[in-house]
Amino acid sequence: MIRKLISRVLGHKDSATNDQPAILGVAQHGLERDHISRASQRTVQILQENGYQAYIVGGAVRDLLAGLKPKDFDVATDATPEQVRSCFRRSRIIGRRFQIVHVGMGNETIEVTTFRGHHGEQGNARAHIDDQGRVLRDNVFGSQAEDAARRDFTVNALYYDPTAETIVDYHHGVADLQQKTLRMIGDPRTRYREDPVRMLRAVRLAAKLGLSIDPEARRPIREMSELIENVPPSRLLDEMLKLLTSGHAVRCLAQLREEGLHHGLLPLLDVIFDQPLGERFVTLALETTDRRVREGRHISPGFLFATLLWHEVLSKWQQFEANGEPSIPALFRAMDEVVDVQAEKLAITRRIVGDIKEIWALQPRFAQRGGKRAYGVLQHPRFRAAYDFLLLRVESGELEPEVGEWWTAFLHASDDERAAMLLPPSAGATRKRRRRRRSAAADTQNGGDE
Ligand code: ATP
Ligand code: MG
Repeated sequence: MIRKLISRVLGHKDSATNDQPAILGVAQHGLERDHISRASQRTVQILQENGYQAYIVGGAVRDLLAGLKPKDFDVATDATPEQVRSCFRRSRIIGRRFQIVHVGMGNETIEVTTFRGHHGEQGNARAHIDDQGRVLRDNVFGSQAEDAARRDFTVNALYYDPTAETIVDYHHGVADLQQKTLRMIGDPRTRYREDPVRMLRAVRLAAKLGLSIDPEARRPIREMSELIENVPPSRLLDEMLKLLTSGHAVRCLAQLREEGLHHGLLPLLDVIFDQPLGERFVTLALETTDRRVREGRHISPGFLFATLLWHEVLSKWQQFEANGEPSIPALFRAMDEVVDVQAEKLAITRRIVGDIKEIWALQPRFAQRGGKRAYGVLQHPRFRAAYDFLLLRVESGELEPEVGEWWTAFLHASDDERAAMLLPPSAGATRKRRRRRRSAAADTQNGGDE
């Protein structure tokens, strides 16, 4: 309502391509130039000196206005990629589906993007579209107004000019941000059909920025969620990783569930939510991840996926064991089965798969606290990740606290103390699921795996 009123007062139209932007000064937007990276300011300035338009765009402007620290500062310009390249010595064109220029400035790399135009109707300006309406290639250049119209949400279509300290706002993005609304530019159904990943982006950005998704953009998500199946797995992996490492993973996943985006969308999410026993473990893992992200610490995708899928592995492992399979081979078969299903849909890379399996494979070895074996685990290159994983299992109530306490003490002990801590070899198997003698051979093989 208020937005419509403001639009009317300011004389804005509500059409998808709005040619009459509002130009907001500092008093209206409140963004401080000092918060913009020097390198990106300099990039804009050089482009402007060469006679081009240039702005800081997208996520950075949005995040700063929302009081968050941006991940990176992207620049948009009316110069073509070739023209941009000729303005900067350290620059190169990258990408095919969507060409951009990487400009090296100091020790930063700034992404410079040429304004994109409409895809569709206009003769040779057609973008490549598949039979579900998904845009495959997008190198049609256009005006700033067109560029704004093809961005997804109004809060993402803001252009900051650090020289003039103004924000060019075609779709009332600043007002939407102030009113805590995530609003789609244009018709949400059409926009989701063009790119179903926008449904995931809606959820992620709303969670990250503390916005509510405008009902018009929210309503179609439930019925259109199956279009996600049409998205290449590598893009889904990118988006999932963004979501999980956003620092708001707990909130994102809760919202995905609320929007009905978890069922049949990613097997990963089905797994997480359909296993009540695993929920505590996953929530703990995601809370830890969110904390780490906010502290600016490194997040390993392998560790993340290992936690998300662990209870699926556990239940298969127990099932195989119950059918009489020896423990360690049963674990390895469970690991393979779980990873295969996920890897296909999410294009989890071989390296990540390797990391996931290493963390899992080390878990039964924590039960071995006698003789040389305990030292072997301690010296394993992936010990730290596997140990953190063990602590999560303890904290979630899956294992007795005593196992975690022993390894924590062992990790911090001196050589002499360690020697005194070792249990007699026969006391190694303390888990409920007692290891069988005949699995020892497989276990040796397990150590040499990877
Ligand atoms: P973050 O960087 O926090 O993950 P972002 O919104 O900056 O979020 P990017 O992938 O960096 O995401 O995209 C930069 C900008 O490009 C966005 O702000 C938006 O304007 C535009 N954009 C990105 N993805 C899409 C999309 N799927 N459809 C339309 N516009 C998009
Ligand atoms: Mg960004």
